Amino acid sequence: MTWFWYIGRTNELLLDLDTPKSLYFAVVKLQRNIRRGFLKVKSVWFYPTLAPGHHHMLVFLKNRMGAIERALWELYLGSDIKRAEYNIQRVLRGLDGADLLIVDKPYPGLGRKPDYTCECPGKHKPRRITNHCPVLRKLHGKDAGAEYFAINRDRKRKREKLLLRYGRIPISRILKY
Ligand SMILES: [Zn+2]
Repeated sequence: MTWFWYIGRTNELLLDLDTPKSLYFAVVKLQRNIRRGFLKVKSVWFYPTLAPGHHHMLVFLKNRMGAIERALWELYLGSDIKRAEYNIQRVLRGLDGADLLIVDKPYPGLGRKPDYTCECPGKHKPRRITNHCPVLRKLHGKDAGAEYFAINRDRKRKREKLLLRYGRIPISRILKY
């Protein structure tokens, strides 16, 4: 299949909204910030994604913004936290295409074309895809598919009540929890 890549430009906020609540807050916060002049917005575009209940919202700004500031706005507007965390890590490492959305068809009506396409056999999550995607390789080089925070691969733990003493916590206590 063909995947279409949108790389956030200096006047674009790309929001990945994965709950109804995040969508609600995105609109409420957009409204407040447009009204009070914190955000100068040219246009807003809204699309469904492959995952039911998930949406992408693209906010085109009238002005340019640095990559970290855009990532902050995306976080603030309720975009997926993990996405923003990785985005910021990539910006700090000087990688191109830090802020990106990958979709299975071009966004209809959007006045701009995707930046790249690839023909990978599935979503860009597992290593068997991220290790071989030519676009990811071009944008992120050896950091393609990099893990900047430990992904949860622990076995499911039973949620015992966590009791911590106030004051210094021994590292061993954290490792043992
Ligand atoms: Zn790919």
